[in-house]
Amino acid sequence: CKLNEQVDDCACQIESLDQLNNKQIHPPLQSLLAKDYFRYFKVNLKKQCPFWPDDSRCALKDCHVSACSEGQVPDGIKAEIHEKNKYSKEAQEEKSQTCQEERELSALDTTISKASQEAFKNWTDYDDSQENFCEIDDDTSADSQYVDLLLNPERYTGYKGASTHRIWRSIYDENCFKPEKGIAYGKQRSLAGLCLEKRAFYRLISGLHTSINIHLCAQYLLPSKTMLGSKTWGPNLEEFKSRFDPKLTNGHGPQRLKNLYFAYLVELRALAKAAPYLEQEDFFTGNDEEDRDVKQGIKNLLSFIKSFPHHFDESKLFQGNPKEAHILKEEFKNHFRNISRIMDCVGCDKCKLWGKLQVQGMGTALKILFSGDGMGPDSTVTNQHKKSFQLRRTEIVSLFNAFGRLSKSIQTIELFREQS
Ligand code: FAD
Repeated sequence: CKLNEQVDDCACQIESLDQLNNKQIHPPLQSLLAKDYFRYFKVNLKKQCPFWPDDSRCALKDCHVSACSEGQVPDGIKAEIHEKNKYSKEAQEEKSQTCQEERELSALDTTISKASQEAFKNWTDYDDSQENFCEIDDDTSADSQYVDLLLNPERYTGYKGASTHRIWRSIYDENCFKPEKGIAYGKQRSLAGLCLEKRAFYRLISGLHTSINIHLCAQYLLPSKTMLGSKTWGPNLEEFKSRFDPKLTNGHGPQRLKNLYFAYLVELRALAKAAPYLEQEDFFTGNDEEDRDVKQGIKNLLSFIKSFPHHFDESKLFQGNPKEAHILKEEFKNHFRNISRIMDCVGCDKCKLWGKLQVQGMGTALKILFSGDGMGPDSTVTNQHKKSFQLRRTEIVSLFNAFGRLSKSIQTIELFREQS
């Protein structure tokens, strides 16, 4: 079926997104993601699940993730982590020093001057901008390891049943916002009565779920055709239909596909907004020629993205009464952070790797969209603020790879459409 419709809550037709993605974005994005800067992702797959006793360490062979050996990752990438850690340590020290100064100041002088109030407000804004929408693994932990994403592709692993349902149930029932009358997991979820922000939250998560499930349909474990029985993965149209055909999904399939487009639009807009910042990034790996290529490739990709006329409008969210908007934003942030913690409970390492990466990428997009307007050289904020809008390499890598996954899903829909 063709989804000749508008993406919910956005002034954008699905058809125009198909065109943009399949023709202009997907091909250059895939070649960028094959470059060293983007293919090595540092992740901690051994973190304890904070919510229930660990049921992971599953025995499924296809869940295995191979970590990189010490010499495999370019030195420039490893060195950058030390640089950024140094930066964040300096920022932390600077922060605690300023907080201490503020405390001393207010203790000495209870009639705090206007200038000091201004300084404190600036400081609070600075603090705000640092707040992430997800929990990011500690790069320096001994349990964090580099993984080559190209050698550990997202695909069918056989991870299903009670463990997956507990994860998805916990995400939807405990962390997505619900209308007053709760809606049970797996039943019809009506978004009527929810405000725009809460609808957006649900659509982002559902869009991510759709994308994960499309990948497992596109790279399904096929019956072996070789004498040696080696494994092959490829598209499984029946599996795709069972998950998205309206007749086989009680009518839910098309809406779930539409949510994928919503998530795509949100990440697309984050890239457009961060473009001035990303255009100045070095994408340093130590290989001058490749780094130059990546920088140029990013510029070209961002020019397609920036020229798209129907971007998601994030300025419509968190409006109205400032106090209520602030509370709602905090709630939104906390729920999303919780979902990033749930990823540590996924019982299949391959699924956990890609789940963590995609949630972190989406969290980075939300940080770009909702941490103020001070991103990049065209921002009007002070230098002090600009410094606070640093993105770490892990955030950039996860944002582009997460967007790459959504982009691949949209392209895959086209492929299944042609097959059916
Ligand atoms: P599920 O996909 O588990 O869905 C559970 C219920 O949620 C459904 O019954 C339906 O009511 C509802 N639902 C389904 N889709 C949506 C949607 N888009 N929006 C809203 N509601 C929905 N498996 C792999 O083979 N490879 C992977 O890489 C992989 N990665 C995963 C990553 C994570 C974080 C998780 C939690 C699971 C992952 N899985 C992966 C498992 C996969 O997502 C399914 O859970 C599994 O295939 C079982 O599918 P199911 O048919 O039981 O329905």
